[in-house]
Amino acid sequence: SAAAPVLEAESLRVAYGGNQALDLPRLALGAGELVGVVGANGAGKSTLVNALLGWSRGRPRVSGRVRLDGEDISALPTHERVRRGLLLVPEGGAVFARLTVTENLAASADRATGRAYTEDEVFALFPRLRERLHHTGGQLSGGERQMLAIARALRLGPRALVLDEPSIGLAPRLVVSVLETVRRLVDERGLSVLLVEQNVRAAIEVVDRLVLIERGRVLAEGPVAAMRDDPRIIQAYLGEG
Ligand code: ATP
Repeated sequence: SAAAPVLEAESLRVAYGGNQALDLPRLALGAGELVGVVGANGAGKSTLVNALLGWSRGRPRVSGRVRLDGEDISALPTHERVRRGLLLVPEGGAVFARLTVTENLAASADRATGRAYTEDEVFALFPRLRERLHHTGGQLSGGERQMLAIARALRLGPRALVLDEPSIGLAPRLVVSVLETVRRLVDERGLSVLLVEQNVRAAIEVVDRLVLIERGRVLAEGPVAAMRDDPRIIQAYLGEG
């Protein structure tokens, strides 16, 4: 995508003590683009997500810039980044276990911005949620919880949506269903999504571009069509077995 990036990281470095966990010269997410950041356990995916959102769990040393719609948000606390539309769906989905689906959705409604999806739009995307209105978050299946978490983010009005390992804990069929819905959001609504995933096989089916990280560094990146044929991807992630 040639459009100006919605979300951009530049010279983003994160270290825990003497351990350089992330060193990213540039990462850009264009408007209406779905970019997958993939890598194995410990590659630095959570470190990246935390740095983008401004979380400092584990007292990392963070340097570099994060921009949202061209605005430098590096110095802003997490809630200010969220208010500007940088929304995270964390691993496992962020839903209130003891609130119903209706209540979970209502809980974000009061902070909705002009970009927010209406309740009807959310139910059109996730018809399953409408059938589960009076179930609590804790009663939902993993897939339903993930859908509710994404729905809550949409109700807030994302500029950029960061999905952290949405496939974790889901049956393969549900992984496909959740990721296909994300793809539809990008295609039909122009949503910009950074998909942070360990499941390369699933991610590669839906993303526009893939960024492969290993030990905190970019090992390979490019349009998904080219990355599919990259021997490093095939060898490490797509080979048989
Ligand atoms: P996972 O899929 O297991 O979450 P990941 O790709 O998200 O892996 P990170 O959790 O970001 O990887 O870890 C990247 C590196 O930073 C690892 O070497 C890890 O040991 C180190 N690390 C992460 N958090 C901390 C911390 N709080 N203190 C010290 N080292 C950390």
